[in-house]
Amino acid sequence: MTVDTSVPDLEGAGAVLAAESARFASFGWMRGTSGNLSVVLSRDPLRLAVTASGHDKGELTPADVVLVDGDGAAVAGGRPSAEAALHARVAALTGAGAVVHVHTVASVAMGRREPGGIAFRDLEMLKGVGLPAHDVEVTLPVIANSQDMKVLGDRLEEARDPRMPAVVVAGHGLYVWGENPRQARHHTEVVEWLLELELTQR
Ligand SMILES: [Zn+2]
Repeated sequence: MTVDTSVPDLEGAGAVLAAESARFASFGWMRGTSGNLSVVLSRDPLRLAVTASGHDKGELTPADVVLVDGDGAAVAGGRPSAEAALHARVAALTGAGAVVHVHTVASVAMGRREPGGIAFRDLEMLKGVGLPAHDVEVTLPVIANSQDMKVLGDRLEEARDPRMPAVVVAGHGLYVWGENPRQARHHTEVVEWLLELELTQR
């Protein structure tokens, strides 16, 4: 694998993404080779380190990372997932520094049950995405899936609620973002908790 050494610390980013992937894989959220994670390495021009496609997400090494541009096209490293384009779109749109994409059972099941969006209120756990625990209702958007990342990105842009750093893609999984990999991880764990709660309630 060729790594562009002009990019500051691509392999360092790869090490962070490998550790985060192993964590999510241990939760069963990245079964098979599903899902992908990214971290923004530069803003102008936009460059993201994204987990390489086709690998077991529980077994990534720091070298299993691809540098992509704002369109999700590879600048250095191996083959990025097609979904890298959506990571780049989310980073550009929201200003996020890290994006998590996981295929969880709860997100797919709840997307099927509530295709118009999943509403939450009066839950202490909402503080975990920066919301008040009480007296605020927030809806986690659900968007229709597409294999065209431009279409999917347009749907995400239209549907997203700036208060909620996540979107469910119907029949597919979850995109979550944060300022950095740690905050994106925390947001992912909180949103997944909310989805699992809803799933067990009805
Ligand atoms: Zn996916």
